[in-house]
Amino acid sequence: MVAAGSPRILLRRLREIMAEQASAQVRLDKLVMVIAANMVAEVCSIYLRRAGNWLELFATEGLNRSAVHRTRMHWGEGLVGMVADAAEAINLSNAVEHPRFAYRPETGEDPFRSFLGVPIVRGGQVYGVLTVQNQAARQYDEEEVEALQTVAMVLAEIVAHGALFDIAELDEPELRSDRPRAFKGDGLSEGVAVGHVVLHEPRVRVDRMIADDTAAEIARLDAALNSLRVSVDDMLESSELDLTGESREVIEAYRLFALDQGWRHRLRDAVDTGLTAEAAVERVQDELRLRIARASDPILRERLHDLDDLHRRLQRHLGNQGDWGSLPADAVLVARALGPAELLDYGRVGVVGLILEDAATTSHVAIVARAMRIPVVGGVAGVTDAARAGDTIAVDGETGEIHLRPPAEIVTVFRARQTLMAQRFAEIAKVRDLPAVTRDGVPISLMMNAGLLLDMPHLAESGADGVGLFRTELQFMIGQTMPRLGDQIAFYKSIIEAARERPVTFRALDLGGDKILPYGRWEREENPALGWRAIRIALDRPALLRYQVRALLAASAGRVLRLLLPMISDVSEFNLARALVDRELERGRLMGQPLPKQTLVGAMLEVPALMFMLPQILRNADFVSIGSNDLFQFMFAVDRTNPRVARRYDPLSPAGLTMIRQIVHSAAEAGGELSLCGEMAGRPLDAMALIGVGLRTLSMQPGYIGPVKMMLRSLHTREVAEFVNRLCGRNDHSLRTRLAAFAAERGIVIK
Ligand code: PEP
Ligand code: MG
Repeated sequence: MVAAGSPRILLRRLREIMAEQASAQVRLDKLVMVIAANMVAEVCSIYLRRAGNWLELFATEGLNRSAVHRTRMHWGEGLVGMVADAAEAINLSNAVEHPRFAYRPETGEDPFRSFLGVPIVRGGQVYGVLTVQNQAARQYDEEEVEALQTVAMVLAEIVAHGALFDIAELDEPELRSDRPRAFKGDGLSEGVAVGHVVLHEPRVRVDRMIADDTAAEIARLDAALNSLRVSVDDMLESSELDLTGESREVIEAYRLFALDQGWRHRLRDAVDTGLTAEAAVERVQDELRLRIARASDPILRERLHDLDDLHRRLQRHLGNQGDWGSLPADAVLVARALGPAELLDYGRVGVVGLILEDAATTSHVAIVARAMRIPVVGGVAGVTDAARAGDTIAVDGETGEIHLRPPAEIVTVFRARQTLMAQRFAEIAKVRDLPAVTRDGVPISLMMNAGLLLDMPHLAESGADGVGLFRTELQFMIGQTMPRLGDQIAFYKSIIEAARERPVTFRALDLGGDKILPYGRWEREENPALGWRAIRIALDRPALLRYQVRALLAASAGRVLRLLLPMISDVSEFNLARALVDRELERGRLMGQPLPKQTLVGAMLEVPALMFMLPQILRNADFVSIGSNDLFQFMFAVDRTNPRVARRYDPLSPAGLTMIRQIVHSAAEAGGELSLCGEMAGRPLDAMALIGVGLRTLSMQPGYIGPVKMMLRSLHTREVAEFVNRLCGRNDHSLRTRLAAFAAERGIVIK
């Protein structure tokens, strides 16, 4: 009954209209007319999103013209709102009877029974709705739905790039990718930066959407699919990657996606509607991104992300390299997620700020960023879709504020903040050489955390007493291969020399969890934080620990070596590891090698079970250091890398402080050396509470030594201890406000 015209002809007509010199409204009016005629529809309308989540009728052929810019509906209201909300096509032969049909008398749409509405989508974001309607009750066929979706995609591109509107015509920031946008995330690493966006794994930008020759585009698509398959096969065969177990399964699954005929058909169908191969890939990818946004099952999401990645690769096989290129001098990296090693790679080139959709305070990428003094904001939903490479962006790593494409006034404010921070640093520098002693004369040892050679100059700058935690795994994570014995010796020597005579506590490799080496066999785990990590790996693969110990012994010849073992869960585990150290010492002696004058081995208290074994562990270990990042992760059962839960509970709570107080008491009874080296040690208010429960050695990021020293020089330990003891008996979810009020009342400097 109805014969729609070729979608390809339609796309070409659209291109001609877009190129015309007429006003936006005239062009939109023509667009709906041409679409209606091509699809043999009596009505064609375009609704676009406006501020406050309204959908406004922007153009129509067939409905009353007077309704244009007057008819508005809420997101989710009526059939049009439903299409926008579900981000899915709705195809009805009798729309009027649909329970969600919302009658708008001004449009005069009552005689039209059949309705087809498709979302106008780009980058997983809905910009509006495109509809066609007919009087006769009919179901639109698959080809028509497909054709209308293609047109909607081209429309989305036009809207997003502002090719259709004068800037003044649209006031909805979401609709315009060159408008300023503000985001709020979690401040993960202090500092303020203004720079230009660099997208990690950038979204490929498709410039040519409408095909001149569809057969040629199909051939290009097929060729790209073939070479993609070959490259995935190569990945599977590659001995370099050494794939086994689950990691192999992941790539196998990836390969199955690449071979999937359904996927291929969807891509070809999209080209058939008149798109270029690149635009077709983007369209199928957009549908996928909408599915990702709706998927709540983490395993499914992971798979969909893999598939998303496959589209990106396919674009590259089409010769579309995306926005990769050299980094600008003031690069602000924007990523969905980033590993610590990847950040270090970028760091070599120079990055002034980092913005992540996923990531929490104690995640390792945040720790590395703090060591690099890069401001970081995490938990910023939607930023990777909104930001374009080269956009100006302002970041505040303390407040979590982000301004994308900011107006000049905002840039001025951020520059002023940068100056203020520099002044604050200058103030802090003044306390560097003052003793870390409380008002009532109690000395507190302030140590710094480190992991790279680039951290070491901070030792003198910060005035720290030494390195309380040296995370040796970072050095392993930045290379492409496992460092050899000679390299390890040279590296540890350079650290010891850089520390001058101050003590350095080297932590043995703490791998696993979110610290994955870029080489070697790594199997995916359901619960990596509770899995095969740290000392567990060391005991199962003793050669790794023995080599590291051998290197540390050689590097510390004639000095005191302090070695800290991570993630100890019970005493026998510690003793097994210590026995390995003793064997290495024995080996060195037999071979007549120069050895440390003393080797002290400590245990990290990160697993709650060890709390109940403190007297015993302190009989075997030379010292204990509380790793509060992991200890609180396990104590509250919150994944430290998951921003949804990482901050749900506060270590400054009755339970948290009671736990630390108990550890301090039992360590004191057993007469052992105790310190704390998690991130909380560097937050002045937290450090005040820790001193209140009796801790006297804290190890933190070097940037926090100054603020913590200012704090402790203004407090009275007995007063704080009494106050914190009382707080431990309360019911509060968090004691932060009470502690801050106490500090304010007593003039304790918390900055
Ligand atoms: C900790 O868990 O508190 C700790 C210091 O170790 P990491 O953060 O490296 O796991
Ligand atoms: Mg830890």
